[in-house]
Amino acid sequence: MDTPTLIEHFSGLLGSHNVIADASGMAPYLEDWRGRYRGDALCVVRPGSTAEVAAVVRACAAAGVAIVPQGGNTGLCGAATPLAASGAVIVSLARLNRVRAVDTDNNTMTVEAGCVLAALQERAAQAGRLFPLALAAEGSCQIGGNLSTNAGGVQVLRYGNTRELTLGLEVVLPSGEVWDGLRGLRKDNTGYDLKHLFIGAEGTLGIITAAVLKLFPLPRASATAWLALASPASAVRLLNDLQAAFGPQLTACELVSGISLGLVLKHIPGAQAPLAESPWYLLVELSGGGEESELREALEAFLGDALERAAIDDATLAQSGEQAKRLWALRENISEAQKIEGLSVKHDVSVPISRIPEFLERADAALLEAFPDIRIVAFGHIGDGNLHYNQSKTEAGENAAFIAAQPAVNRIVYDLVHELGGSISAEHGIGQLKRDELVRYKSPVELEMMRAIKRTLDPLGLMNPGKVL
Ligand code: FAD
Ligand code: ZN
Repeated sequence: MDTPTLIEHFSGLLGSHNVIADASGMAPYLEDWRGRYRGDALCVVRPGSTAEVAAVVRACAAAGVAIVPQGGNTGLCGAATPLAASGAVIVSLARLNRVRAVDTDNNTMTVEAGCVLAALQERAAQAGRLFPLALAAEGSCQIGGNLSTNAGGVQVLRYGNTRELTLGLEVVLPSGEVWDGLRGLRKDNTGYDLKHLFIGAEGTLGIITAAVLKLFPLPRASATAWLALASPASAVRLLNDLQAAFGPQLTACELVSGISLGLVLKHIPGAQAPLAESPWYLLVELSGGGEESELREALEAFLGDALERAAIDDATLAQSGEQAKRLWALRENISEAQKIEGLSVKHDVSVPISRIPEFLERADAALLEAFPDIRIVAFGHIGDGNLHYNQSKTEAGENAAFIAAQPAVNRIVYDLVHELGGSISAEHGIGQLKRDELVRYKSPVELEMMRAIKRTLDPLGLMNPGKVL
């Protein structure tokens, strides 16, 4: 099929209003959230059912045309953006947005890929359950995108990442066949667990059209505190103390450097320092089923003891939901404050939790030696060993040259991450951004297994080409 015939074919399948081929209509689909990547496409299609997705994929496969699945387009690695002059068809999943079933006895819900994450959190709450995946893009990202990037967020410590929240998938394969793997089973040892191939695959192996997700009891009580401490090593020790004391009630444990908080206080209206200045802070949240006052008292007692034995330097406990929100806003506004301050080189890395102090000490020292006068903004999910580790020049005027040196900055950070047994992408994925880095840090054996899977499922190489591999 030539291009006009393919577009006509899609219009026949989906209705012409669900096929976008004009430049202005396509524009928002062709650029990524950060504005770093722009691509081209033949058209954008908006199928409304699994059968329509399959029909679109079959037509693309027959015509040898590449496919780029796109959810909420909030990804941070250019994975949902087509390549330049790609001739690809963007398949937007936005219209597949039905919740097919909620099973409160099985504690699962079966949802379509285009459901917006916040809508699923709400739907679960209406059923008296918690769907715990939570991240700052939740108002626009879609569950299909969360699955395809295996998204993390701030409650991974307690509930796991998207992979751990998923029991089953429905996927349109690159051939156009539909795999119905929508099982709501917690135990199923019948050979290879294929859903895990598609979770985190960034749309390179097929299009996820639906999923069975785990639900949890809605926690009735929570307690939130902001702590000051001297070093990342004290933070790791305190994390272990918190886990020993509270077990699964420890829902979040976020590390914030003094520099990160400083940017929030400078740029975010209404932000207030919760404690006297300190080099490091921890934001801690407990949640559970008991009385709120009991949980708060338990955390207060723990913090009192930690202060006494000098495990922390200071602490403040939120006395209301409103105060807890204000503490969380300090953590959640770090990226925004950094954006206002200027461009930065960003990393999203993980190392074993025990090696976080060594990572920060050595990476800081090596970077400051190579690039004097940079500012290092370190924060993140210490309970998952995952740090957001970003650098910029303190003088905005000098920043352009520093940003241009990104490959050298990456080398220092990623080589150390690799040496410490870590990952160059803990949360955001590979996409276009880290594709070439992947080749450097995965072993040849691992890369060849990945390529073999890709060749087997997508022999024509039509699913999201130029991403990941
Ligand atoms: P998109 O950006 O549209 O797509 C992402 C990838 O998935 C692409 O490769 C695309 O091709 C593929 N894809 C999308 N839908 C499908 C489908 N149905 N089938 C197959 N492939 C598909 N990430 C975290 O892990 N933790 C965070 O805390 C976090 N915070 C964020 C905060 C902000 C403000 C922003 C903008 C992003 C954040 N992210 C975070 C990045 C995160 O990856 C995305 O927000 C989200 O998971 C992507 O969902 P999306 O629907 O926007 O996917
Ligand atoms: Zn994060």
